[in-house]
Amino acid sequence: MAQDSAHPLTIVGAGHGAAELATSLREQGWQGSITLIGDEPLLPYQRPPLSKACLNGSMEEAALLIKSPASYLRSRVETILGVRVVSLNCAAKQLTLSDGRTLPYGKLALATGGRPRTLPGEEGSRAARAPNFFYLRSLDDARRLRAHLVPGARIAIVGAGYIGLEVAATARENGMHVTVLEAMPRVLARVTSPELSAFVEDCHRKAGVEIRTGTKLQAFDYAPDGNGERIVALRCEDGSVFAADVVVVGIGLVPNIELAQTAGLKIDNGIVVDEFCRTSDPDIVAAGDCTNHPSALLGRHIRLESVPNAVEQARTAAATLCGKERPYRAVPWFWSDQYDLKLKSAGVCEAYDRVVLRGEMSSRSFALFYLRGSRVVAADTVNRPQDFMLAKRLIAESQDVEASQLADLAVPLANLLKSH
Ligand code: FAD
Repeated sequence: MAQDSAHPLTIVGAGHGAAELATSLREQGWQGSITLIGDEPLLPYQRPPLSKACLNGSMEEAALLIKSPASYLRSRVETILGVRVVSLNCAAKQLTLSDGRTLPYGKLALATGGRPRTLPGEEGSRAARAPNFFYLRSLDDARRLRAHLVPGARIAIVGAGYIGLEVAATARENGMHVTVLEAMPRVLARVTSPELSAFVEDCHRKAGVEIRTGTKLQAFDYAPDGNGERIVALRCEDGSVFAADVVVVGIGLVPNIELAQTAGLKIDNGIVVDEFCRTSDPDIVAAGDCTNHPSALLGRHIRLESVPNAVEQARTAAATLCGKERPYRAVPWFWSDQYDLKLKSAGVCEAYDRVVLRGEMSSRSFALFYLRGSRVVAADTVNRPQDFMLAKRLIAESQDVEASQLADLAVPLANLLKSH
């Protein structure tokens, strides 16, 4: 993709991917104008603290900004905030904004992220109107939810994925009575092994959280509240009923693909991109939660929902726009903070045939390695940042390892690396 400085380069979305793209473009030599358009009223901010430090009020909101206002000025990035891009015309190379403006572009980067998966049907719509019902994606959601984190109050969380469990930990640390309902037979079922799920579940139970797995939400009970109604209880398919003062639903993410889809770009569980973050339109790249990209590690396309992926893909997309193509080959990784647990995962926890434990789970400091044959394909680490770094390298190097050595704390993991 050759650089075209005569036309503006426009970034749609103002999240992790967009912030990195905007500044990375300048670092990689883009000379033309750059415009960043986001529908939230803020400069790009970090989302991970929304379920952690920002939710319990220990982190100042100003500290959420990914880059300072000055860095956009320095990089000569024009920002248009609080305005949505409502349509994309690839043939005319033109965007239409929610305020009625039309903007031409030369090159386009889509970093539109995703939105929470919502409860279906009329029951879902009715619940979403209740003042004590929340999804959690934006700072605005976190601000409104924070006001309900009252010690002694009862919070019911639907969905035991990372966001649900982080909210559970934060609420419990705030002295709330916490119930987590999960339809699958275990927590974190979509993302990790039964071994880590059992450990995390046990930590929450010990902290006083009531966790009900294999429990499907059926309906809510309501009581009048001003001109509307508030939720007072959750009814499950097995007949159990949980009273609640506040409800949070964290049941996954839907990628924001509609703009790309109606413009005719190739879509398949996200905006399909190649290893250089190029979409099916030669003038459009995409990065972050909204993309479905080829994973060298897995040998298939994958859509990831993580900050490291958004940032690395943004760098790849910026390089591509600057005509310096370099393929995206990063090992996927993710982190989560719950209580004193710093969880860090590398690789994708699937298609493994063996699990090796390094350390003692009871010490709350250990690593789980997932092996296919004698190769490490993924790892979960708990309070072991060093092991995490080395696990990432073991996965990237895809080399044979001895399981007994992985398990042996006396053998430094670095000794197992080819490049040691
Ligand atoms: P986003 O950050 O979603 O940004 C996309 C932006 O584009 C949004 O502001 C959206 O409103 C805007 N947009 C969309 N469409 C349009 C349009 N048509 N016009 C204008 N603007 C538009 N990841 C981790 O790695 N570790 C964590 O611990 C972690 N914790 C998380 C906790 C919470 C509560 C949440 C919500 C997410 C967490 N994540 C975590 C996930 C991480 O935040 C996302 O993977 C990351 O934000 C993805 O960045 P992105 O740029 O792809 O999308």
